[in-house]
Amino acid sequence: SLSPSMQGLVDTSKKIYHDKLHDVKSKDAKQAWVVTAPGRVNLIGEHTDYTQGFVFPLAIEYSTVVYGTGSLVINKNAEEVSKANLKFASATNPDKVEQVSIDVNTQPPKEAGSWTWYVAGTVAQYLMKDLPKQGAVLDATFAIAGNVPLGSGLSSSASLEVAVAQFIECILGPEHAFSSEPPGALPAKIRAIRCQKAENEWCQSPCGIMDQYCSSAASSTQKGTLLCIDCRTNDFEVVQMKQDPDNPVALIVANSAVTHSIGGGEYPIRVQQCKEATQILQKVHGDRIQTLRDATVEDVLKCQKQMDDVIYRRARHVVTENARVIATKTALEEGDWKIVGQQMNLSHLSMQKDYETSCEEVDILVDLAQKYKGVYGSRLTGGGFGGCCVTLVAKENAKGLMEHLQKEYQAKVGKDCTPFETTPAPGARVLAIDTF
Ligand code: ADP
Ligand code: MG
Repeated sequence: SLSPSMQGLVDTSKKIYHDKLHDVKSKDAKQAWVVTAPGRVNLIGEHTDYTQGFVFPLAIEYSTVVYGTGSLVINKNAEEVSKANLKFASATNPDKVEQVSIDVNTQPPKEAGSWTWYVAGTVAQYLMKDLPKQGAVLDATFAIAGNVPLGSGLSSSASLEVAVAQFIECILGPEHAFSSEPPGALPAKIRAIRCQKAENEWCQSPCGIMDQYCSSAASSTQKGTLLCIDCRTNDFEVVQMKQDPDNPVALIVANSAVTHSIGGGEYPIRVQQCKEATQILQKVHGDRIQTLRDATVEDVLKCQKQMDDVIYRRARHVVTENARVIATKTALEEGDWKIVGQQMNLSHLSMQKDYETSCEEVDILVDLAQKYKGVYGSRLTGGGFGGCCVTLVAKENAKGLMEHLQKEYQAKVGKDCTPFETTPAPGARVLAIDTF
């Protein structure tokens, strides 16, 4: 049984499919796949993934659903290059049916384009990797419905990519999906790597792997768990949030209602600044520093004179943030909410002062949260320059906190911060197979 909001997404996508997409070509289809992938909130570990560090996110109930049909035909003797013919529509603009065809030679666009590249870029990964170079024709017709707020740091983009990936895997079937990967490779991990590549190369976004990984790999069986991801090995640990029945806590997400554009300017600059910091660290400390992941606070401190102030602060954020993830993980497993909260507050301060990814509105929201009774900690979550904050609060104060944030943020900023409580949700999965 699905939650009412998930059922709503399924109903919406199904209706779009039947009203707008189910035409002559897809009429032969005997079944439709219904798949979903969630957005995420990052508890801690911000801007650490693209330097191979640690992140600690959880999947949330807000998700993207894909409902659709498709087929794969392989004609071994055909000389035509393999291609994918996609026909799809999103509930964000259901009247606009998108038709995109790509083949194995299609190059990613040079400039940031439409949202359809998130979809096409993802399909391209499967087309290029798992299908023969010639003779394969992948047809897919599908509708997309999501309720992850777009551009709010809860990762609607990854949930879209991962849902599309999961859907394409259904069409390819076990015989073809991941057939190019070594035996034993974890589908959830490979899917995440492919979706990140799609976003990097097709959408001009130099994002790390956290969002796609969380959306893809969050546990569907172990309830109440977060993922601690090592972005060097791309391995992860499922971590249980230890709830004490006598002292339960809640996670509250509130949206500054300032939207960012991750490809737009600041994010790529941060990626570049981390590279600069790494080069300087390498000069001083040698090859043991491959990325900022390898540096300690002392290593960075020793290079302060060689670095300009901005680069120094960027590096300091990343290395201290990696340490905070590790400290938070231990504290979370022990249910030591005070420590978890302290690390969250320090993380916010570090993003504010050192990494400069916060903004006035988010700072107001975080400040309101941090000062509220029963709150252990609060911080900006996601890429920043707007977006959401996440707060850890004693369960008994959760409702009061949400009312407080709503009222005070409205009074101070004039915007609705739509706070909600979240618990760890499952990752990407097939919800149903609809037979016609
Ligand atoms: P975030 O991932 O934090 O929400 P991004 O800027 O990375 O923000 O991604 C948001 C973009 O993802 C949107 O502008 C849109 O192009 C695309 N997107 C996400 N979900 C959908 C959807 N359901 N329909 C159409 N486009 C979507
Ligand atoms: Mg995104």
